[in-house]
Amino acid sequence: MPHVALVPFTGFRVREDEVLALGMTLPGLKPRAAAVAQLPALGLLTLAGLNPPHWTCSYHEATRADEALADVVMQHRPAVVALSALTASVEEAYRFSALLRARGARTVLGGLHATACPDEARGYCDAVVIGDGEPVWPQLLADAERGELRPVYRAAVPFDLAGAPVPRFDLLGRGPRPRFTVQTQRGCPLACEFCGASRLLGPYRSKPVANVARELDALRALDPRPVLELADDNTFAGRDAGELLDVLGAADARYFTEVDWRAGEVPGLPAKLAASGCVQVLVGIESLCFRHPGMGPKQAELPRIMAALEAIQGAGVAVIGCFIVGGDGETHDSLDRLAEFIASGTLADVQLTLQTPFPGTALRRRLEREGRLLPNRGWSHCTLFDLTYRPDAMSVGELESAFRDLARRVFGASESARRGAIRRRVWQTNPRLRPCDPEHSASS
Ligand code: SF4
Repeated sequence: MPHVALVPFTGFRVREDEVLALGMTLPGLKPRAAAVAQLPALGLLTLAGLNPPHWTCSYHEATRADEALADVVMQHRPAVVALSALTASVEEAYRFSALLRARGARTVLGGLHATACPDEARGYCDAVVIGDGEPVWPQLLADAERGELRPVYRAAVPFDLAGAPVPRFDLLGRGPRPRFTVQTQRGCPLACEFCGASRLLGPYRSKPVANVARELDALRALDPRPVLELADDNTFAGRDAGELLDVLGAADARYFTEVDWRAGEVPGLPAKLAASGCVQVLVGIESLCFRHPGMGPKQAELPRIMAALEAIQGAGVAVIGCFIVGGDGETHDSLDRLAEFIASGTLADVQLTLQTPFPGTALRRRLEREGRLLPNRGWSHCTLFDLTYRPDAMSVGELESAFRDLARRVFGASESARRGAIRRRVWQTNPRLRPCDPEHSASS
């Protein structure tokens, strides 16, 4: 029987020493990093759902992509090893691919980075999947079985999510899994300049609720009351939320997702969100001083945005406000204003990242045109915590040090405790949370 080994490179990458020391002690970052590191790699598990019955399959999370892991993978004598990586981890994936190929394996890489940089990826793997993987996966396996992998697989048309298989959650094993992932859409109807996820894999598509319901059933077989992270870029932005919320509510899950602030303006939606089991949403406020091209209707005055977020929190759903530091016009003054805004506000939590020009984004193309990308800061610097371009109103060193100062202010002990108290207050009003749920007592 031919075998396919799946090797995802999961989790945050925090590269630079000072940021590592600071970042890993940040109350706002540490739990999030831990949660992300343990998220199942949904893309590969979904492809495995399309494996022909005579194929066997194994799943190996690459927290340490070393010789020992290569030995484990090769014990399965795979006909092909499918790797997945984000930009910050792609160089690790390339190195691991070399280890495997030196042992005689054939490797394939897909996902956002490989789609944005297929020529580069081809230099490190036997095959590259550009765009959606599902339409080409059966052919890729058939070619691997014959030992005739093509260098490039590219779907002729965007994948219709009505044909999405139930991901092979069974490959995760029976060990504890803090969160499972479910995708209800692919892409986003908006087109923020810095965002690759919204465009690279094709146009925005929503998954029919019947498919979502099947995936939730599969997860409930593993955990009767699962904690979910919706692997969406902007849930509800392109569809009527009603049916999807009904399906999520019926799953008896607690879930976390990303939405844009307009969800708080839709009459009744915040209450329905909470009633469906949503406990936390991540919302991009992005910047107080710079509006990114492509934000479309997401662009609005701050008071209106904050009123919408208040409505979401008033229903019992905690909001993590996300801010991107380093857009054009960022100065010491604007970062001071941001720190004061966060300290005087009611957001239940905050995420701060440095603006990052990921490959394939309009932002990267613009900064490249303007000659502002820093040399010698390769993909491993695309961590969201490392600066990779020249800011327009500060020097590189000034922005790097101002970002650390901002992080110290925002994630200091008293500010973190203040937001922890807000979270607990918000969650006490969530109708689906039970007193025994950790949200009632935890600070994160
Ligand atoms: S709203 Fe979010 S997901 Fe959509 S394009 Fe903007 S950043 Fe990307």
